[in-house]
Amino acid sequence: MSDLVIVGSGIAGLTAALRAGRRHRVTLVTKGPLLDGSTRYAQGGIAAAMSPDDSVEAHIRDTLRAGAGLGDPAAVAALCAEGPSLVGELVELGVPFDREDGELARGHEAAHSVRRVIHAGGDATGLAIHTTLITALRAAPVRILEHAFLDDLVADGGGVRGVRLLGPNGAEVLSADAVLLATGGAGQLYRHTTNPPCATGDGMAAAARAGARLRDLEFIQFHPTALAAPGSPLISEAVRGDGARLLDADGRRFMPDAHPDAELAPRDVVARAIAAVMARQDGAPVYLDARPIGADRLVRRFPSITRMLLAHGIDWTAEPVPVTPAAHYVMGGVATDVRGRTGIRGLYAVGEVACTRVHGANRLASNSLLEALVFSARAADDLDTAVGWRARPAGRLPEAAADGGERVAREQIQKVMWNGVGLYRDREGLERAQELLTGWRAGGASVADRETANLLQLARLVTAAALARRTSRGAHFRVDAGNAEGFGRVLTGAARTAVPAC
Ligand SMILES: Cc1cc2nc3c(=O)[nH]c(=O)nc-3n(C[C@H](O)[C@H](O)[C@H](O)COP(=O)(O)OP(=O)(O)OC[C@H]3O[C@@H](n4cnc5c(N)ncnc54)[C@H](O)[C@@H]3O)c2cc1C
Repeated sequence: MSDLVIVGSGIAGLTAALRAGRRHRVTLVTKGPLLDGSTRYAQGGIAAAMSPDDSVEAHIRDTLRAGAGLGDPAAVAALCAEGPSLVGELVELGVPFDREDGELARGHEAAHSVRRVIHAGGDATGLAIHTTLITALRAAPVRILEHAFLDDLVADGGGVRGVRLLGPNGAEVLSADAVLLATGGAGQLYRHTTNPPCATGDGMAAAARAGARLRDLEFIQFHPTALAAPGSPLISEAVRGDGARLLDADGRRFMPDAHPDAELAPRDVVARAIAAVMARQDGAPVYLDARPIGADRLVRRFPSITRMLLAHGIDWTAEPVPVTPAAHYVMGGVATDVRGRTGIRGLYAVGEVACTRVHGANRLASNSLLEALVFSARAADDLDTAVGWRARPAGRLPEAAADGGERVAREQIQKVMWNGVGLYRDREGLERAQELLTGWRAGGASVADRETANLLQLARLVTAAALARRTSRGAHFRVDAGNAEGFGRVLTGAARTAVPAC
């Protein structure tokens, strides 16, 4: 039996805690309340090949194709093969997935060759999963520490030794035989994001400071359809899967000209096409017309989105909805193997903080909840037999974010990342962003200060990765690479800055 500290209470942290808690002494630490993180906001659902007209092989094919040649076949095979039984465990745990004629109902999302996205509460899948897992956790033999912020990892030449926390009673060190990072993504790097405020990349930054390798950070997925309003609330891809159309400001459909799959083209293609049209329209949003779906089905299938839009004064059964792309998901992260092991002995990373390479250069819709589920279970099981870990000693990078000159505000980082390291990238814009980010410093005693320092550290790493990859691949699009699509070429540096609409 080992002492394990799990950091984060989304689907990844909760799954790992429930599983590891059966055999180890587990403490789960999270910086807000348990019900914080991206998981609760997931709308579309969770992809798993669970019906007779589907197969694990087809799911593998679709995932690798979306990843633009950078997906790791072994990791993808584990994801798709082990997903169905773990989704089955969620059903047994009591997640109220939607059903049709007694069978699990299945939605369709971009780049899936069949309907395979399982959902709950129509468009409230994440909330249903998150609340069910929290209920199970409260009954499990796991110590829970809410409002405790992971400030840093404690590590030495032998590997990870624990975590340093900032909690309600100040700084505290928790010792552990192993630490599992499940701290989620870093959407707050960008001015427009669908992610909640807690997505500040703390786990990635702490892992980098301890000497773990981060990879594929240039691959940031921008969701095509967030409401063009403050907070960029998401409008699920499943709405387009059900038949919604994208229209320009003149009411013309533009996706059929951009890609043979039109509105169901891969996410990055749709997001860039929208950005290009917005640039041509001087930054005005495009519109998502969901009326072809029919009012009854819209309200029944997407009750949460319907409520959210009504709160913004929009009745989407009667009018098109103004939308804009927004940063949504980080494909890169802390490099792990297929057991969730990082390069530092005893340090695991699972869920959005990790880079297992299942997503390659672009994530297939609804594969991230599945990734968190599969690899957190694998990491928890690995604890029982964690031998032969080939790891280098932990090191300590200089406090990168503390160097530099002018003290930076979070909003400045977000603006630079959106304009220079966003949907369309070129050397000039990236170098300008790098220069600004290098000239800034961040730091301080509060949790908010620490988060800003993490964002600055990560922004520099994302920008360096984007500069280093000189060709376009998946979600990383270099306008100056010479392989831009038709609608990409029209964007110049000036047009890039016209993209933000809200
Ligand atoms: C609006 C939206 C819709 C989405 N829809 C879907 C979908 O339909 N299907 C799908 O597959 N994926 C979807 N995604 C992506 C998916 O929700 C996430 O990738 C997934 O939930 C990540 O789970 P996680 O457990 O890794 O992280 P999270 O759920 O983000 O949890 C991270 C946890 O770590 C904690 N934490 C962070 N930093 C610290 C720190 N320093 N100290 C202590 N605790 C910390 C947070 O408080 C939180 O509890 C969506 C994402 C968003 C934002």
